[in-house]
Amino acid sequence: MIVKMKNQKLIIANWKMNPSTLEEAKQLFKLTADLAKNSPDAEVVICPPFIYLSNFQFLTSNLQLGAQDCFWENKGAYTGEISLLMLKNLGVQYVIIGHSERRENLNETNDMINKKLKACLKSGLKAVFCVGEKERNESQSHFNFIKEEIESGLKDISWRVFKNIVIAYEPIWAISATVGASAMNPAELSTIVIFIRKVLFDLYKTKKIFDAPILYGGSVDAKNFQDFLNVEGVSGFLIGGASLNPKELSKILAKK
Ligand code: PEP
Repeated sequence: MIVKMKNQKLIIANWKMNPSTLEEAKQLFKLTADLAKNSPDAEVVICPPFIYLSNFQFLTSNLQLGAQDCFWENKGAYTGEISLLMLKNLGVQYVIIGHSERRENLNETNDMINKKLKACLKSGLKAVFCVGEKERNESQSHFNFIKEEIESGLKDISWRVFKNIVIAYEPIWAISATVGASAMNPAELSTIVIFIRKVLFDLYKTKKIFDAPILYGGSVDAKNFQDFLNVEGVSGFLIGGASLNPKELSKILAKK
């Protein structure tokens, strides 16, 4: 079964390296959980820094826990790493894999991301697989860049297990932490969503791929989210900055 949206939008809240104290994290979790409880149209996944995960066990049907990364081995001499087994034992359901900030700051390669995806799927957790180009140019090379990220990331991943993957398209130039960033044009997003599905169709040769969820990420906020949600084939968002601001989030989660 494909990660199913039950007509809900999927909202992945990526807190990144925020907030700085457990007290603040608990407060933000509580506010977000209350919003999720009152938002039956949304499935909300909170992805806090690893060290806060064990404090957040009070989940409901439309509120899940996610992690911002994982390692591909389950135990052993891997200093600083966190295994999928550890995450699973804490009740984590989703894992963000291949976020551009990890690709950029920690030199994560497509090959490492492929190992993480395979390990994540083997563990039974759902993967939020991030892809997206750094920049655009006249030769439109971003199409090939995205294709390469998808094909390398999904190498040797069968259709049977692909069904636990959610693709998050996040053009780096649109992520709020990038200098000069602004959200992309929804019409352009539509082109990319069609392109991603074509790449997936060529890989898996099944029309079921047209049900696979694709998220958008990049400066999503209360003002622009509806335009993105109106794009055919967009199932929700991976949200960074706005997920730390309950006022913004409440509008994004609000019933249409
Ligand atoms: C992100 O980094 O995944 C992201 C989408 O961030 P923001 O919403 O702040 O652009």
